Amino acid sequence: MCSATLAARGNLIGRDQGLLWHPYAPLDGDAPYAVTSAEGTRLRLAAADGSGFEAVDAMSSWWSAVHGYRHPVLDRALLGQAARFSHVMFGGLTHEPAVVLAEQLTALAPAGLAHVFLADSGSVSVEVAMKLAVQYQRATGHPGRTGFLALRGGYHGDTFAAMSVCDPVDGMHAEFPSLVAEQRFLPRPPAARLVNGRLVADAREVTAWVDVLERTVARHAGALAAIIAEPVLQGAGGMHVYAPECLAAAARVAREHGLLLILDEIATGFGRTGRLFAAEWAAVAPDIMCVGKALTGGYLTLAAMLCTSAVADAVTGSPLRALLHGPTFMGNPLACAVASASLGLLAEVPWRGQVATIEAGLADSLAPAAGLSCVRDVRVLGAVGVVELKGPVDVPALTRAALERGVWVRPFRNLVYTMPPYISSADDVARIGAGICAAVEAVHG
Ligand SMILES: *Cc1c(COP(=O)(O)O)cnc(C)c1O
Repeated sequence: MCSATLAARGNLIGRDQGLLWHPYAPLDGDAPYAVTSAEGTRLRLAAADGSGFEAVDAMSSWWSAVHGYRHPVLDRALLGQAARFSHVMFGGLTHEPAVVLAEQLTALAPAGLAHVFLADSGSVSVEVAMKLAVQYQRATGHPGRTGFLALRGGYHGDTFAAMSVCDPVDGMHAEFPSLVAEQRFLPRPPAARLVNGRLVADAREVTAWVDVLERTVARHAGALAAIIAEPVLQGAGGMHVYAPECLAAAARVAREHGLLLILDEIATGFGRTGRLFAAEWAAVAPDIMCVGKALTGGYLTLAAMLCTSAVADAVTGSPLRALLHGPTFMGNPLACAVASASLGLLAEVPWRGQVATIEAGLADSLAPAAGLSCVRDVRVLGAVGVVELKGPVDVPALTRAALERGVWVRPFRNLVYTMPPYISSADDVARIGAGICAAVEAVHG
């Protein structure tokens, strides 16, 4: 390679800055780290100052890389499909990767979810779920039911309809006045803690919350299409674990008043909370469910919206007959093939045991953080560990401190959290926990 190319490559981070937007970051924000390789649970990173790190991945690239990086089975599925065809339009055409994936999804999903819409990202699948709920209500004689009831502290994506059901303050609705629809919100459901494998909450807080739920729905049902929620674990809105009884009550009240229940399992789906879908914690089956993130094992962007036959049949029986959505890259064969292989792997690997081992390992290794004066709470559910600080995290300093201890984390707000790949060894998990505790102590004391 000529030296000019090498120099240009060496300055990758400098070239990125001011050129590329990164998620929720200013164009001239803190320098990112450059990834030079990723394999298994390990990332090799380079910093702007030229230093290099080998780090244990504590993030699964935002809940997605559950089988780790460069998994031979997923690599093979992707390359195999690329050798057949990479993409064809889904209008008027179908293909084996999409059909097989939809069959797998409906077999795995909570009872009754029998139809699949393939979307290109989690946010888009939420848009589609919301459209479907509105179309369902109109088709069943309730054209006024166009609103949604969501939870404070929720996160459902970054497109405008998805944003409208995110927490209105965190989601910065005020920045986009006429673009974000006004929805109704319930308070954040009361926190629950894992005790001997059960999620336990304060019974009085649960009763009070359910009371607000019942009164809100009774008053506004005529204008509501659906209740939308992340089951049991609110992710990007605060890593909040809540009482399954609240979810069960939402399902019951929705049914009583003719609202649909949309469960957003984009973060929680495919085993992350210790159950295949987090809805199982409350023994609830939604009318509509969204999955994404781990769907392709972190390889490609793909999400899916599943619904019951009752919902699908109503739309099919309406004058429009169709669900009004159809992205260009709908059902992308590469993404479907790798998703199919990832679900196949989940069926083969002992993920329940892996997640249980990570849960125990995180509970042990994050426990010391609870003794730090800057820490408000430490909580673990499945392969998710959270250290909540009393104040905002110094993200660049904490990221660096963790990297110096061999761990890649990406905190936000007052949360330092981890959701390791399921293939993480006990040593990986111990290193993640110890690295987080030490980095929090070093940066925030
Ligand atoms: C990440 C996430 C989304 C949005 O998914 P994208 O693929 O980023 O559009 C929606 N809902 C939940 C619960 C998520 O965690």
